[in-house]
Amino acid sequence: MSDPSYRGTCFCGAVEIRVTGTPKAMGYCHCASCRAWSAAPVNAFSLWSPESVSVTKGAEHVGEFHKTPQSHRQFCRVCGGHILAQHPPWNLVDVYSAVIPDFEHRPALHVNYQEKVLSVRDGLPKFKDLPKDFGGSGEMLPE
Ligand SMILES: [Zn+2]
Ligand SMILES: [Zn+2]
Repeated sequence: MSDPSYRGTCFCGAVEIRVTGTPKAMGYCHCASCRAWSAAPVNAFSLWSPESVSVTKGAEHVGEFHKTPQSHRQFCRVCGGHILAQHPPWNLVDVYSAVIPDFEHRPALHVNYQEKVLSVRDGLPKFKDLPKDFGGSGEMLPE
């Protein structure tokens, strides 16, 4: 059986991507950078191996912005819609779950909850910053 794959597009459709297989992690990030970049109170992320993610159309329209070396944020130059963020230190790519509508987002955790502007009482673990595997303190906060 072949791995499942999901199609995604930017806001206007000039850029298309495909993700294949299973993400390494899914959850919500509450950090100020994700909030500002997504223009939303919380960002739903899905983290994939770089080999799982490809741009299938409109690669020439993809722009990239680095505020920090940890996150190479990619967007469509035509519509300004956001597509994904590469995280080279972790060798992972965050494909924003909203960009791949047929993919079922099954969150397991919340990260950077100390920066939250929106409380989410869904019973999932709330990491103050990041899990230890990702260089964080691993500390938890109440919902
Ligand atoms: Zn676009
Ligand atoms: Zn974040």
